[in-house]
Amino acid sequence: MLELKDVRAGYGAINVLWDVSLTAAAGQLTAIIGPNGAGKTTLLRAIMGLLPLGAGQVVLDGLALHGAPAWRMAELGVAMVPEGRMVFRDMSVEENLVLGAFLPAHRPHVKTRLEQAYATFPRLRERRKQAAGALSGGEAQMLALARGLMSEPRLLIVDEPSLGLAPLVVNELFDILAGLKAAGRTIVLVEQNTERALAIADHVYLMQSGKVALSQPAREVDLARLHDLYFAR
Ligand code: ATP
Repeated sequence: MLELKDVRAGYGAINVLWDVSLTAAAGQLTAIIGPNGAGKTTLLRAIMGLLPLGAGQVVLDGLALHGAPAWRMAELGVAMVPEGRMVFRDMSVEENLVLGAFLPAHRPHVKTRLEQAYATFPRLRERRKQAAGALSGGEAQMLALARGLMSEPRLLIVDEPSLGLAPLVVNELFDILAGLKAAGRTIVLVEQNTERALAIADHVYLMQSGKVALSQPAREVDLARLHDLYFAR
């Protein structure tokens, strides 16, 4: 569904991604792991059209997205759940959710999708009238994820959802991601929590210094080798 071919991208004169190629297949969960500063977030920005490509291509279902702006990605059915949740703190939980279905094409479906969101995330139903700023970190992450799903995206991209969350909340979150995958959703997950990511991923890419250091089906990954590559600088 999503293919990156020899992508280079960075910030002004500083190049971060060096000829990154990867594929995220339909109906699968593709995990992108790697240490701090490896370029994972930069990679997502390049996919979403938030950074110009220095070289290479981002292809979605055969369509090259040369310089497509971020809003066009939404039209094409790509939703991103950014690192750090980014919920609108002064708006209610429900208002935040409704924002996830902002395109005119989605408006008629808002009610059913809210119901789906509340069925998947019952805590959000209980708190739907509360300001999003009053949620716990875990609830805010659930809200960010639920908002991403409000557009019924063909491709859901999730950046570091477990960051700063307690282990029990992380369990809950990964159960939900596994459930979304089981329901057929295509997911690209960026995570620093390697073992959790491996447990639910179909395919894993390890990023190291702006390059793909390893690309392998998750079930074939040798943890000792992954560990060595992860910490190689
Ligand atoms: P983390 O897990 O810490 O978010 P990451 O793998 O997502 O790490 P990136 O955030 O993509 O890594 O950063 C990759 C490199 O790009 C780092 O060296 C970082 O300093 C640099 N970088 C990130 N954002 C910018 C920016 N806005 N301007 C210049 N350099 C940046």
